[in-house]
Amino acid sequence: MPELPEVENIKIGLKPNVVGKRILDVKFSELVINSHLAARYALVKSKLKYFKENIIDKKILSLERRGKYLYFILDKGYMITHFGMTGAYFVVNSIDEIKNKNYNKHRHLIFKLDSGELLVYSDIRRFGELRFVDNIEEFKPFNNLAPEPFSEHALDHFMEKLDSKRYCMQKIKALLLEGSVFCGCGNIYACEILYQEKIHPEKLACELSHEEKVRLFKSLVKMLEFSIEQGGSTISDYVHSDGSEGNMQNFHKIYGKKVCPLGHTVENLIIKTRSSHYCPQCQKK
Ligand SMILES: [Zn+2]
Repeated sequence: MPELPEVENIKIGLKPNVVGKRILDVKFSELVINSHLAARYALVKSKLKYFKENIIDKKILSLERRGKYLYFILDKGYMITHFGMTGAYFVVNSIDEIKNKNYNKHRHLIFKLDSGELLVYSDIRRFGELRFVDNIEEFKPFNNLAPEPFSEHALDHFMEKLDSKRYCMQKIKALLLEGSVFCGCGNIYACEILYQEKIHPEKLACELSHEEKVRLFKSLVKMLEFSIEQGGSTISDYVHSDGSEGNMQNFHKIYGKKVCPLGHTVENLIIKTRSSHYCPQCQKK
């Protein structure tokens, strides 16, 4: 699943290829159309007619990221994308330029740009979400998100949440995945940072000292920054908008590993429905 560093890289790659261009048309795949007819609303969460009417003839003024969301700032309104597990954007002159067979096959939205290029949204597992909103303030998920981790108030916010009645008795691993506590961290980076900081994923927030919490936050921010520089992690199907892959997976120490760097057997716990890879020797309870 694209986490903050991966979405940031999608933004960096896509921005110079779309900003200043106008959307002339949008075509939906059969699958999207049929799912809307059956009221299942795959991928596009706005009504297709509404989405199309509001997207067509809009100029893309900028591209921004909030947490794991990417949004297009149009000359009127916003198009918001969440990539789910396997969403990706490509800017191409023709579909054949999408070399990855899976992405080529699972293309679901094709935006025609006034440059003659196509902006293609592909999604293999179809957990992604696209919607048009008039006003970014009316998009509720943004209101519940913690501040961006690189912003000034993010640390205070994180500490306040971990100390709060609501969260202090919860497992730290679950809290790292909670967007209202820390914004943009998913399963991979949560596993990695807990290994690096030698914290057992089932430790409760209140069992960590003040210093441990501060260090955990600062190290996680550093790891996300480093991952952005590395182009993010390509695990199964994450690729940049030019089809290239990230490099961060080469630095993973625990996620998806059988042994930790010290040779201990890695174990797996399910926390909040996600696999938590951890080392019971390095990360004591
Ligand atoms: Zn170990």
